[in-house]
Amino acid sequence: MAKKQSFADKASKRSFTKTCPVCGSELHYVKHVKAVKSENGWKYRSLNVGVCKCNEKEIYG
Ligand SMILES: [Zn+2]
Repeated sequence: MAKKQSFADKASKRSFTKTCPVCGSELHYVKHVKAVKSENGWKYRSLNVGVCKCNEKEIYG
């Protein structure tokens, strides 16, 4: 019983925070604004990106 409960706790925590399968660090979701060139000029698209050690330099500059 105790084992089952702790497993459920872990499962619920997992759905809350995501971990990067590559570096194993926690993913932080940030709104990343990207400039996209279109026919009428530059447009800004914002999207939620999971940031970890793999791509933090790319996102934060
Ligand atoms: Zn990573």
